[in-house]
Amino acid sequence: MSQRSAKLVATAADVEGLPRAGAPEIAFLGRSNAGKSSLLNRLAGRRELARVSATPGKTRLLHFYEVTRGARSVLLVDLPGYGWARVSKDERVRWQRLVEGYLERREPLRAGVLIQDLRRDVSDDERELLAWLAARGIPAIVALTKCDKLAPMRRAERVRALSREFGLPPARVIATSAQARFGIDLLWKAIDALLHPRSGAGLELRS
Ligand code: GDP
Repeated sequence: MSQRSAKLVATAADVEGLPRAGAPEIAFLGRSNAGKSSLLNRLAGRRELARVSATPGKTRLLHFYEVTRGARSVLLVDLPGYGWARVSKDERVRWQRLVEGYLERREPLRAGVLIQDLRRDVSDDERELLAWLAARGIPAIVALTKCDKLAPMRRAERVRALSREFGLPPARVIATSAQARFGIDLLWKAIDALLHPRSGAGLELRS
């Protein structure tokens, strides 16, 4: 991969506090503890850019990480995790307002990456999230995490089963492990395919 740099450029606690639109953005969503921070660190090539949480779901901010590869910049937007236990209704409402407010009106947003622990079954939360993105025309990628936890045969079975369940093409469901450092380049490839789609299908008619 070409020369790469990464840094935190903004945080936002509410939609009013969003940074000015600039480089294209990719949103990262996932259940708390799914491995989102670890994966973001690998994508950025920085060990501790996003904080790997000992207490799941503690931060309720959007974090904007700018990753520059060669001449191109992209913002990886870390959305607060969902599904944490025992939070008040107020907190849930605040989460929803922040996340939906960002996803619904963010002009530079190009795609959402749903982070899913390979060993967990898909819940209504994930199904709802993907349906919600689809309804708004936001392309989705699923990054399956912690793939090192399963032996290769079992892992391949899970990837196939989850792809079917998510109803996404194989190129949009990527098996990764932040710990074993695999799947990271493939995930970048899936992201790049959405950031820089080839123009047309090869037919360029000129009048
Ligand atoms: P987040 O809450 O979604 O940001 O998840 P974290 O990145 O904080 O990770 C949650 C827990 O899963 C931590 O204990 C991590 O060390 C562990 N974890 C994350 N990625 C991997 C992985 O690829 N393999 C394994 N075995 N554990 C991981």
